[in-house]
Amino acid sequence: MSENIDLLVKGWYVVTMNPTRDIIHDGAVAIRDGNIVAVGKTSQLEAQYSATETVGGDHFVVTPGLINSHIHVTGEPLTRGYVPDDTPFEENVFMWLCPLYSVYTAAEERLSGQLAAVEMLKSGTTTFLEAGTIRFLDEVVDGLTEVGIRGRVGQWVWDLPPEPDVYKQDTDEAIAKIQSQLERFPASDDSRISAWSLLVGHTTASDPLWRAARELATENNVGMSFHMSPAKLDPEGFVDEFGHRPMVHLAELGVLGPDVAMTHCVQVDDQELKIMAETGAHVAHCPTTALKVSYGVTQVGKMPEMVQSGINLGIGTDGNNASNYSDLMRATYLVAGLFKDGRQDPQMFPAEKAYEMATLGGAELMQMSDQIGSLEVGKKADVVVHDTDRPEWRPLLNVMNQLVWSADGRGVHTVIVDGKKVVEAGKMLTVDEDRMWANAQQSGEAITLRSGLPDKSKYPVL
Ligand SMILES: [Zn+2]
Repeated sequence: MSENIDLLVKGWYVVTMNPTRDIIHDGAVAIRDGNIVAVGKTSQLEAQYSATETVGGDHFVVTPGLINSHIHVTGEPLTRGYVPDDTPFEENVFMWLCPLYSVYTAAEERLSGQLAAVEMLKSGTTTFLEAGTIRFLDEVVDGLTEVGIRGRVGQWVWDLPPEPDVYKQDTDEAIAKIQSQLERFPASDDSRISAWSLLVGHTTASDPLWRAARELATENNVGMSFHMSPAKLDPEGFVDEFGHRPMVHLAELGVLGPDVAMTHCVQVDDQELKIMAETGAHVAHCPTTALKVSYGVTQVGKMPEMVQSGINLGIGTDGNNASNYSDLMRATYLVAGLFKDGRQDPQMFPAEKAYEMATLGGAELMQMSDQIGSLEVGKKADVVVHDTDRPEWRPLLNVMNQLVWSADGRGVHTVIVDGKKVVEAGKMLTVDEDRMWANAQQSGEAITLRSGLPDKSKYPVL
């Protein structure tokens, strides 16, 4: 008698990302009640199990769902590409991004979150860590839940900047926001979307807010995340205010720890790197943002030294005006390549290491190593099926090189989250795509018009 399962996912190759990094030729993944119950040779699993449904087959590569360690699901997806690509960091953030974020309505933020989730799912990302810049959290969580992605989210929390008006909040209000979101969206094993203790970060939080956010993360047993030191502005701000650099100050406040994920960390010095390694903090490396906003990541970035010091790195795609796509496979490709060139050393970030960052690294950064990041028995069934009947996938001679250097999200065929299919044959099963494209276009045009910001397209549109 064979055992019943819900789903059998079959592949030409199954990339497990298990501790020995086994790639199973003619392999399969057995799924029951949202969890992985077996991974092995297709012939063995077919003999052992009777599946309600079978997906994949002999021209598919099966991988774990990717984990996007930093993304703004609101504010930017519906204004993607409106910000010119030649604006320096300060102008980019304060003259463009903040005003654009601030004119979104609740319905637009909900749609924005859904568009971001759809882009991630269709390119093989099943879990994300949001940047902490949502304004209408309830609506966004509702929209994300409908799409069926896994994520950790939070509201826009800071207490120092005086504008834009809609984000103005004093320290007590800021702390109350974090407290409230952790109560409304608590983490549990079956909640796909829940809240973390998130701050915008940079130089936008007072010491009392840093401490409170830290305490709330500990009390609620959730992670903490914030932006830090993409450009020189942050270290210069901390040195001016406190006489030392950001990591020194944050360590003194007791903020840093193994449940902290910091985004960017391009402009860190050796002392800061040591502190980061000692405290066990994680880094979300966002290569596209660094390229587009000129952070100098290949010149001064210490990502290779972070890896050598044992700091865990995940990969993020950030906002759609700093990195105009949310396809983590494209960002993983950049991670594999940037430091090979920057250090003139082909040993930097092998394809396998870059892919580890997009899966296991992201899982560790999100405090979810026991649940996601690999295809192993007992983990959640977050599975991606890539179609290899495509030009960039053939010939298939080295799976990991193909995944990182040749393929991108276009080849993603089927995506399963929590054992449920959300993408099939490249199409969303949970949302009406045609309606989404039309709504996104209409909303994007309305938001940019409402912002009063100029259209800076350089070519004449006739
Ligand atoms: Zn960001």
